[in-house]
Amino acid sequence: MNLSSQLHHTASMLGSKPAYFFMDEASTYAELDAAVTKFASGLVKLGVEKGDHIALLLGNSPHFVISLYGALRLGATVIPINPIYTADEIGYILHNGDVKVVVGLDMMLPLAEKMHLQLPKVEHFVIAETGQSQMTEEEMSQLSIGTKMKSFTQIVASGDLGFRGSTLNDDDVAIILYTSGTTGKPKGAMLTHKNLYSNAKDVSDYLKMNEEDRVITALPMFHVFCLTVALNAPLMNGATLLIVPKFSPAEVFRIAREYDASVFAGVPTMYNFLFQYPEGNPDDLKSLRLCISGGASLPVALLQNFERKFNVRISEGYGLSEASPVTCFNPLDRPRKPGSIGTSIMNVENKVVNEMGEEVAPGEVGELIVRGPNVMAGYYKMPEETAATIKDGWLYTGDLARMDEDGYFYIVDRKKDLILVGGYNVYPREVEEVLYNHPDIVEVAVLGVPDANFGEAVMCYVVSKNPDLTEEQLMEYSRKHLAKYKVPNAIEFLEELPKNTTGKILRRALKKQVLQER
Ligand code: AMP
Repeated sequence: MNLSSQLHHTASMLGSKPAYFFMDEASTYAELDAAVTKFASGLVKLGVEKGDHIALLLGNSPHFVISLYGALRLGATVIPINPIYTADEIGYILHNGDVKVVVGLDMMLPLAEKMHLQLPKVEHFVIAETGQSQMTEEEMSQLSIGTKMKSFTQIVASGDLGFRGSTLNDDDVAIILYTSGTTGKPKGAMLTHKNLYSNAKDVSDYLKMNEEDRVITALPMFHVFCLTVALNAPLMNGATLLIVPKFSPAEVFRIAREYDASVFAGVPTMYNFLFQYPEGNPDDLKSLRLCISGGASLPVALLQNFERKFNVRISEGYGLSEASPVTCFNPLDRPRKPGSIGTSIMNVENKVVNEMGEEVAPGEVGELIVRGPNVMAGYYKMPEETAATIKDGWLYTGDLARMDEDGYFYIVDRKKDLILVGGYNVYPREVEEVLYNHPDIVEVAVLGVPDANFGEAVMCYVVSKNPDLTEEQLMEYSRKHLAKYKVPNAIEFLEELPKNTTGKILRRALKKQVLQER
């Protein structure tokens, strides 16, 4: 089994069931599977072959789902890219990823027109029509991109329903995910059909996803958290996707209410937005059986406040692109521990090790390493980086963690975000957790900056909802709850914190900004 054959199987069993709702559109499993087959066949007619690389520059939409599964069905490798990246960032990935076909929105035509001459390997730009393009027919006919431009709708229309798809092997690369990694340029994590299928299956078993579920797909589809947890896992189980084009609290409350959603998956900042939303009515979320958090640490205060206000349980999990992504989740049928990422999901092993790669005792902090069928094949065209990340079959995550006596893991922080104050370890997350407990604080980021006396100093950036709150009051609060060396040297108030499009707070971008300003 792989994701594409699984979809076909689900369609043969549950053909008339809705696979997704999107704005005023709906599609059954049979319709989705047919569109996928026809898109795959239409691409083959253009000359696209098994093993070719297809980039998706699409927002959350049926176009994304059909292109993803269509490309997989014909045996191509998919490279999902955040469509709001700059031309340079997109160009780097298209070039490094040896992309032959780009599927993008019609709004991106001017960008494609600008880029196509520098990307001779890209043979086709498939334009997904949204009707929102500003270009007239006249302007389109004058583009130099000319015959490289193809219409998504026409490709589907030209495809054959009898197309059987390619034979896919477990170890064929299904997706390459460009991740910012630790240093330098983004690296392409190669995820195989087996990686993706096994992780979606193991996560859905763990979270008991089933055909009754209606899952709010509000995370960006190009991100691996959404791909596995809020797209592949639900489709694998015959559930229905409630596709949100762009996250907003109002939209999540509306969709949950109107479609009786049963599962919501989000990053912590989304939970924060939902919690802070003044019109957030607990009644709107009453059909939810489960909220899933991942992608970054969920502050315990936020988890508790959210659960209290909306009377729905949040289960936190953990993952990374290189592990397709999930390795741990808080179980549904055993105790849930706030602040913990839960226990190892089925078939995946997690271990905390010291600098020598030896497992440490429960309670001790070390690097989290992971092994299982979900661990990537390696970074595309980067054997050295791969060898530095996967050793003896174990993926080194770069995250510091500890495990308790019951086998629950706790992420302490990113290894590279650790702050060293006069020889003492300060984990930014610990300081952030304390400040999140303050009733006026909406968001916090803590980071280390160079300090002449102590090596590094703890800097804290907060977004407050109380304009009268002062730095001194917050310092006083910190002193009450933190050992002296962990208390921030300074606390600055900001309007907002930098975040990526997934909603993760970008501590390192903030640090760069702070250092530049200095
Ligand atoms: P990405 O590859 O973009 O999905 O980012 C993976 C990284 O996100 C991990 O290495 C962690 O640093 C972080 N992360 C994911 N889930 C959690 C979590 N529940 N708690 C803390 N950090 C997390």
